[in-house]
Amino acid sequence: MIETRGLTYAYPHAQSLPLPDVVVPQGGTLLLRGPSGSGKSTWLALAAGLLMPSSGEVVVAGQSLGVLRSGARDTWRARHVGFLPQKLHLSDALSVSDNLALVYFAAGLPLDRAAIVRSLDALQVGAFAARRPSQLSGGQAQRVALARALLLRPCVILADEPTASLDDDASAMALSLLRDSAARLEATLVIATHDARVWQTLPQAQVLPLMRPERRA
Ligand code: ADP
Ligand code: MG
Repeated sequence: MIETRGLTYAYPHAQSLPLPDVVVPQGGTLLLRGPSGSGKSTWLALAAGLLMPSSGEVVVAGQSLGVLRSGARDTWRARHVGFLPQKLHLSDALSVSDNLALVYFAAGLPLDRAAIVRSLDALQVGAFAARRPSQLSGGQAQRVALARALLLRPCVILADEPTASLDDDASAMALSLLRDSAARLEATLVIATHDARVWQTLPQAQVLPLMRPERRA
């Protein structure tokens, strides 16, 4: 479950960005739909507790993020939120497998190599465990990033423009992976997108329309 109330965010020296209230039930799918600059990535950062709102509240799976101190928020995020960023942030200094191992350090949990193998296998990238991220295709790297996001079985999956650089087939594949993974974990799925293929592929999803600040009254 994700619930936002009265949310606004103001970047330094910028107009405040108001974000409409929304309630997404646990296991539901929400599309953040709007043009570039409308606040989709900002919304995801607020829902992940990466940014704190200027006003308003975010509650994720019963946890109000505003009451957590920053260290507690980092641990909470590592354990409960699966984030698939637009830029994947895989380290090329590490193997694919060790990129996933970092998740345990961030969460303050003991390393579980067997779970890493399972998570990579579930997304059909187990064969690449020993490679560096730069030795993968774009689609394979995205699967690895998704395997990393899902490793600790998060209750919320946040994906930022997951189809932006993909052709039609790869886009459909990425969306079905996201949807199937969320269903398997009974996680709430939020996809930020300005790609019409996404809402055509997920017609049942709840939609939160966002607008650029200058378009607002
Ligand atoms: P989207 O993901 O929909 O493209 P963003 O959430 O990235 O939109 O941005 C929303 C608004 O906030 C835009 O007007 C953008 O220019 C502004 N913005 C985003 N990041 C920053 C930043 N770090 N500093 C100042 N303004 C920012
Ligand atoms: Mg964005």
